Amino acid sequence: MTRTVACLDGLDPDYLAATATPEWDTIAEEGATGVCDGLVPSLTNVNNVGIVTGRHPTKTGVTANTFLDDGDRVYVEDARFLRCWTVLAETADEGADVIALVAKEKLRRLVGDGGVVAASAQEPPRWLTDLVGDPPGIYSGDASAWLLDAAVAVADARDPDVLYVSTTDVVPHKHAPGTDAADAWVAALSDGLGRLREFGPVAAVADHGMNHKDRRVDVAALLADAAVPAETVRCIRDRHVYHHQNLGGAAYVYTDDPAAATEALEDAPGTEVVDRATACDRFRLDPERTGDLLVLGDERTVFGPINEGDDRVDRVNLRSHGSIHERDVPFLASTGEEVAESVEIFAAVGLGSSDQT
Ligand SMILES: [Zn+2]
Repeated sequence: MTRTVACLDGLDPDYLAATATPEWDTIAEEGATGVCDGLVPSLTNVNNVGIVTGRHPTKTGVTANTFLDDGDRVYVEDARFLRCWTVLAETADEGADVIALVAKEKLRRLVGDGGVVAASAQEPPRWLTDLVGDPPGIYSGDASAWLLDAAVAVADARDPDVLYVSTTDVVPHKHAPGTDAADAWVAALSDGLGRLREFGPVAAVADHGMNHKDRRVDVAALLADAAVPAETVRCIRDRHVYHHQNLGGAAYVYTDDPAAATEALEDAPGTEVVDRATACDRFRLDPERTGDLLVLGDERTVFGPINEGDDRVDRVNLRSHGSIHERDVPFLASTGEEVAESVEIFAAVGLGSSDQT
């Protein structure tokens, strides 16, 4: 028997509502489905690590894709940033055969700690391509479908006790719910989960949602205009700019004068400024890895530099995430366990302890 947990990257509830998903519905009929809370900032690393550890950022230490570490900007992309074990590693440590299949190498390094056999679609090992063939590129719309095919092939050929599969959000970043590309992506996810159900219990959750964004606010320039010494770090920033152009709905501001910085951002449209203590309390963040301020966008607003002219606000056209508005995520559990937060998804198939959050 294989227990499978899937992290469906960027599967906003709107996508499920717009597409027929017969296999998802069948699992939901015997089990449970609904919408639960993801973590804020609503980013892949923050949430994927929350999911695989079953813990909040207070415990994981992963509060963004990038944070300021002693004044240096560091990309959170390997397990040294993790402050606790994953459920995967703990289960492997107890002697279980645990396999993790993820889209990118950065995630493989984050979740492939301990005795976990981990592979990515970006640089798949030979044993995996022998089973399922070569993957499309990780920026291909078919990369998620390939990962689910790979999961089915691995369940069939290797019969692991636990299988974790994490897909990519390249499709929802580019395509709105109900479009042909989105329909094909959602149908492939549903179909893959249906096939995995044949090997044992299945639970799935998204890491974050996705919304159309049409306004950009240049936080760093507004702070410079007001002569507030500060460093602005966009939480979404990583090496993979193709999806989201590093524009998302959350930023950390590091400054010795939070009051002045807050005042400088007061009139920025679609912008909410939260101090560190409030942010850590509200979103269960690790204060050592949270800016002096957390800046959050409304549903349509992202943060990033406007390189031309003197405008501090301009129009953009993209789909992205990071804010509170991409926090709601769908879950599915063949076991019938109700899931209130995405960090509970491993517990929904009986893995990990319940007192760890
Ligand atoms: Zn994601």
